[in-house]
Amino acid sequence: MALIVQKFGGTSVGSVERIEQVAEKVRKFREKGDDIVVVVSAMSGETNRLIDLARQISEQPVARELDVMVSTGEQVTIALLAMALIKRGVPAVSYTGNQVRILTDSAFTKARILHIDAQKIQGDLKAGRVVVVAGFQGVDEQGNITTLGRGGSDTTGVALAAALKADECQIYTDVDGVYTTDPRVVAKAQRLDKITFEEMLEMASLGSKVLQIRAVEFAGKYSVPLRVLHSFQEGPGTLITLDEEESMEQPIISGIAFNRDEAKLTIRGVPDTPGVAFKILGPISAANVEVDMIVQNVAHDNTTDFTFTVHRNDYNNALNVLQGIASEMGAREVIGDTNIAKVSIVGVGMRSHAGVASRMFEALAKENINIQMISTSEIKVSVVIEEKYLELAVRALHTAFELDAPAGKGE
Ligand code: ASP
Ligand code: MG
Repeated sequence: MALIVQKFGGTSVGSVERIEQVAEKVRKFREKGDDIVVVVSAMSGETNRLIDLARQISEQPVARELDVMVSTGEQVTIALLAMALIKRGVPAVSYTGNQVRILTDSAFTKARILHIDAQKIQGDLKAGRVVVVAGFQGVDEQGNITTLGRGGSDTTGVALAAALKADECQIYTDVDGVYTTDPRVVAKAQRLDKITFEEMLEMASLGSKVLQIRAVEFAGKYSVPLRVLHSFQEGPGTLITLDEEESMEQPIISGIAFNRDEAKLTIRGVPDTPGVAFKILGPISAANVEVDMIVQNVAHDNTTDFTFTVHRNDYNNALNVLQGIASEMGAREVIGDTNIAKVSIVGVGMRSHAGVASRMFEALAKENINIQMISTSEIKVSVVIEEKYLELAVRALHTAFELDAPAGKGE
């Protein structure tokens, strides 16, 4: 008999009918003999509606009170789901974060979980009850209600699974798994049966928004097997695990991630002396701008060009700071470009394969796509290209790394 934590997101509990469907699903699971703990989000749109109410009172609502309010969204869905289960003859009980005692720090609206009391839930499971827990919320030492940040119910699910030593944490959502890339860009994208935590983090931070990144980090840290599944379609979903398969058939690349949210800045003709990178990036970081890729060219004539990328929202801010630095340093000029995109190939199989990067560059060259910047890590190679070639690049790479679904299987 297994212990499974199942998390259902906002769209999966977005109406009474859907909540009934979820209850039906949980009932069937339980018939198979598994112990089930369910974590739910608020009904879709509810958290936004609540935040909007608060904004009508004040542009910057007091964080403590905001948490008291937004936590109500989940309190509604846990009760409705428990009712729907009981109506079906399934013994069930619902708990808020405070009732379980999901202890967090006091960082309202972005609290971190410190400890979960497992006892009460374990007692209910022993007594044959399905336990329904409110996602996204906890309580601090002083008894204040806290919330975990948007999308935080994923983290609640994973943290509960870790605390209960569950066999699996299943995240039910409106997609049937994690794909090799965005199916809206590549029709032949395929659902992955398996992906490692490391790969998932790269894919998630690079733009596939299936799971809250914090939840993936948490699951990796505590080795909680995580599975992404469709709420209302049958299917195995995608399992996110620690182990890297050693099999020879394992593809070198698991997926292709991309991101249109970056902008590029170059400061040209800076003196090639020690401390230059610090002089440039120090003020950028002091302005609270995060830098992603960095390239410094080989110097000639004792000067060099220094290029980096930032989030597009930070572009103007970074440009201002950089112009200040440039005149101080006597640099030649500052140029910027917001029409860029980053494309990354991601895969743990890369570690043992030379030539992955060159295969990537060859595929891009064949399409006449110019590479502006390159960066690599153990499990990824990223390039910056002109934004208008993004879709072409992703498609070409998807084909080059043999990720396309066999004919007839694609959507
Ligand atoms: N209801 C919260 C939100 O909308 C938490 C969640 O859905 O995970 O962000
Ligand atoms: Mg979500």
